Amino acid sequence: MSLSEFDLIDRYFRGCGARRADVRVGVGDDAAILECPAGTELVAAVDTLVDGVHFPHGCAPASVGHRALAVNLSDLAAMGACPAWALLALTLPAADESWLSEFAAGMAALARAHEVALVGGDTTSGPLSVTVQLLGYAPRAAALLRSGGRAGDVLFVSGTPGDAGAGLVLEQGRLTAAGERAAYLRERFLYPTPRVALGECLRRFASACIDVSDGLLADAGKLARASGCGVEVAYEHVPVSEALVSTVGEPRARELALTAGDDYELCFSVQPAHVGRLLAELPPQRWGYTRIGVLRAALGAEVIRDGAVMSFSHSGYDHFVR
Ligand code: ADP
Ligand code: MG
Repeated sequence: MSLSEFDLIDRYFRGCGARRADVRVGVGDDAAILECPAGTELVAAVDTLVDGVHFPHGCAPASVGHRALAVNLSDLAAMGACPAWALLALTLPAADESWLSEFAAGMAALARAHEVALVGGDTTSGPLSVTVQLLGYAPRAAALLRSGGRAGDVLFVSGTPGDAGAGLVLEQGRLTAAGERAAYLRERFLYPTPRVALGECLRRFASACIDVSDGLLADAGKLARASGCGVEVAYEHVPVSEALVSTVGEPRARELALTAGDDYELCFSVQPAHVGRLLAELPPQRWGYTRIGVLRAALGAEVIRDGAVMSFSHSGYDHFVR
């Protein structure tokens, strides 16, 4: 590498993101020292993005920086936690300065928006891979879990799932569409919006929560399984964006909404007795979430349409067998 490892860290990653008073020691020592607020517990997540696996080879570096942090912000959002500190383990084929500066800018913008400080990391050379560890906190014993739901709880999802899945297919050139709508869908894949504020508010309402990264039906099924129950999703209630419907058509839009990944929305359950309070205090039209189904005693995850069960292939979104 032309740029020394020290210069690279100094130039692009020291002071990246927000400045926080609770960072006693950040980038520069052997480890970071961080102060959790009194009465909270640490909440930690880590995720790796591999070139050609989690993002297309040649993907815009700002998007890679954004997504590497966003996927972790989404995990903390699903716990109802407040994100605070990130560590970045970066493996690079070369110290390409234009790539690095765009990557760092993409990550820093999202970090600042959520008041996250980059407090350490590791830099190595090899095939491109980005790992972010995100640390945050939640009031003691108050974090949301996947396992807190029970039969009868009402199920909701934020946003319009499926958009990112279509955006990826567009990015890969496996689908062609022009114009504003296609640009919007691409943007949903490249720059997902982790629902951090919603997650924190949901601590007061939700019985269980998960972020949608592997497809709505699969992730709702994981929440249900962890809660010891099953889930029924109403096909007609699955929200789909106008952009998605006009790009791929209605049936394919719903199929993507149920099975495509990379949305980073929140799927959560609420006890029936708390639904009224949820709708009043977090108006769905302002917070952007939709009621899609219910947890039930019978195990499994099913999509119901006109009273009939639709069957799915979980292997991918290319098979949607009725
Ligand atoms: P060590 O050899 O003790 O692991 P390094 O020389 O790898 O230390 O790193 C020096 C400092 O720079 C440490 O504080 C480390 O956390 C930080 N650092 C290294 N790489 C990155 C990175 N990609 N982003 C942010 N901080 C980094
Ligand atoms: Mg090191």
